[in-house]
Amino acid sequence: MSKIDSLKPIVALCKRRGFVYPGSEIYGGFANTYSYGPYGAELKKNVKDLFWKTFVHEREDMVGIDGPILLHPQAWKASGHLEGFNDALIDCKDCKSRFRVDHLIEDVLGKEVVGMSLSDMTLFVKEKGIHCPKCGSKNFTDARTFNLMFHTPMSKTGGEEVAYLRPETAQAIFLDYKNIIDTMRVKIPFGIAQIGKAFRNEITPGNFIFRVIEFEQMEIEYFIEEKNWEKTFTDWLSCMHNWCALIGLDPNKVHEKEHSKEELSHYSKRTVDIVYDFPFGRSELYGIAYRTDFDLKRHAEFSKVPLEYTNPETKERFIPHVVEPTFGVDRTILALLCNAYDEETLENGEMRTVLHFSPKIAPVKCAVFPLMKKEALVEKAREVYLLLKKHWNTEYDEGGAIGRRYRRQDELGTPYCITIDFETLENQTVTIRDRDTLKQKRVAIGDLVPVVQEHLQLDL
Ligand code: ATP
Repeated sequence: MSKIDSLKPIVALCKRRGFVYPGSEIYGGFANTYSYGPYGAELKKNVKDLFWKTFVHEREDMVGIDGPILLHPQAWKASGHLEGFNDALIDCKDCKSRFRVDHLIEDVLGKEVVGMSLSDMTLFVKEKGIHCPKCGSKNFTDARTFNLMFHTPMSKTGGEEVAYLRPETAQAIFLDYKNIIDTMRVKIPFGIAQIGKAFRNEITPGNFIFRVIEFEQMEIEYFIEEKNWEKTFTDWLSCMHNWCALIGLDPNKVHEKEHSKEELSHYSKRTVDIVYDFPFGRSELYGIAYRTDFDLKRHAEFSKVPLEYTNPETKERFIPHVVEPTFGVDRTILALLCNAYDEETLENGEMRTVLHFSPKIAPVKCAVFPLMKKEALVEKAREVYLLLKKHWNTEYDEGGAIGRRYRRQDELGTPYCITIDFETLENQTVTIRDRDTLKQKRVAIGDLVPVVQEHLQLDL
């Protein structure tokens, strides 16, 4: 699997082959925004569909919602985001670059900065003579807090109100918890899943789609009785590792990082990050947090609506506790690309760039080629192409030498290439080539769909 130590070839491949484009490029770009091209959009959709299938459809204890991006502004007061969803920033007065001050300090200390006050950070930067990473100046402003929520004015009878773009999908789930209890006949323990956009005005975005200002999350809030939190936490943690294996991430590159007491968010009693060995270093891919009953309690308090659950057997009333596994979609895509990317020398000395995606999430499942651009071959190839296209995202390619067509599909991570040759016209068989082993075998056209299905291990 991938041995690369830089994101550069991945960023280049993503642009060249239609996975990810820089946002608003014709206007010179719009910093830290990206657009998923046709193959990136397919990859993303496959990841989200597999998530929904795994965690909603295949389980008895889960339901899914699709909540709004704009929530009542009070919700962000209750959740603590208005007050506490801040980073500490510092500006270089000379080149006007902006930095996370804790990151500058971490570079000097070689460890994470926790619990340092703004004035201590300002002092540290001055005393240690920290330079601006961009221009080398030591002329910094004082450190100050910066709320990461994007806000937008909303017209309202008699004036204006500020609305916030959600910085996490979780709160939309908490706001719908009562509706789910009232309408869905769910019993604790149960979970609510949601996939959707979140927005954060990050001070230092970067590393391609790793840290962006608009991204997608796949989140689960799992509602439990307090006494069961530890077991629920470890069960979900192992579900998260199973998920990483399911999408094909190399288990040797997936690790856990336990948050220390000082690192825990205001709502969490235990948090573990699932970290991945990205080319730029080991960094957070996913997280799981025991959020206690913090969110529901606060929303009950702020909305004045009771959010208790009544145990149907004992009639005991209580506010459920919550374990939250959270998965970033964009970081999943980046990890999948890094994990799958390889540059290989073939036996004939030729080089190929290949994405070894798991067939489950590969954006294109099959490609069909006529060996040559001869009418009878083209006609048969189009027939096979249309047959496969009914089941899976399939491409047709008749342009150029067959080797080049294989290379083009390798770069997209297409697991199977099917070639129609002269023998096909005689006995209705085709060759099917495996992307990873490069082995080819002959299969009757009549058997092609079940054979491909078996290889892909996918539903029809
Ligand atoms: P980080 O420490 O990297 O800023 P976080 O701990 O703030 O991340 P969470 O609030 O736990 O992140 O968000 C849940 C998930 O959402 C993360 O595990 C990550 O996959 C994803 N995520 C968070 N922020 C971003 C971002 N700016 N760009 C892309 N994905 C993000």
